[in-house]
Amino acid sequence: MGKITVFDTAVLEKAVADRVLETVDREKIQTEANGEGLLVGCADGDQRGDTEDHLKSKGLHRRHEVLSNGGALSLGPKSPARSLNRMLSEFVIHMTKETWYGWIARLLSGVITMIGCLFRLDLVQLIQIHKGLELKRMGVIILMPHVPCGVAAYYNLDVIDQLRLIIGAKRRLKKIFPDKRIMLLIHVDWSNGDRRTYRFSAAAMEAWISTNHSLFTTLKARL
Ligand SMILES: [Zn+2]
Repeated sequence: MGKITVFDTAVLEKAVADRVLETVDREKIQTEANGEGLLVGCADGDQRGDTEDHLKSKGLHRRHEVLSNGGALSLGPKSPARSLNRMLSEFVIHMTKETWYGWIARLLSGVITMIGCLFRLDLVQLIQIHKGLELKRMGVIILMPHVPCGVAAYYNLDVIDQLRLIIGAKRRLKKIFPDKRIMLLIHVDWSNGDRRTYRFSAAAMEAWISTNHSLFTTLKARL
């Protein structure tokens, strides 16, 4: 299980202090989401129990889940997680490592990565969301990234990158499913025994990131 980075901790602590991350409001879950929603989240099993308990305690009594490694990160504009890319190459190298032709897979890893870019995970996820909404007749989509996330670490995405991708994902989904409400949550494992789920608004978060841009750049340079 990964640990939250010093940078992500500092950014998230400030976001909580500045109230752009708010505690999840039980009333809003019930009035805005009618207590039900389609959750797009990361498959990380270490955090599932905590998020499930939390959402249930906040009144989300009925939900359908579209889970994958990294969850909605793949839906963000130009997300590095939108395709298999180098994961395909790593997989082929793994599959052929005991064979005499394993060296060919290693030699062609760049080409295999390019082929991996054609396998679009975001499209698979969009189709899963579309079908899930249709089958379960749900009016609310909940996007819930989490920190620390293994896939975010794999692609070197800090929490600001993650938030930007999720905000972009929300806009994309709103265009595809204009009649659905989209709620943004984030689960944080503070790595000190404390785990929390927060709610945020896309517009407020975007403005806050923009206002604090130079602060975050300085902080990153110092770490
Ligand atoms: Zn994850």
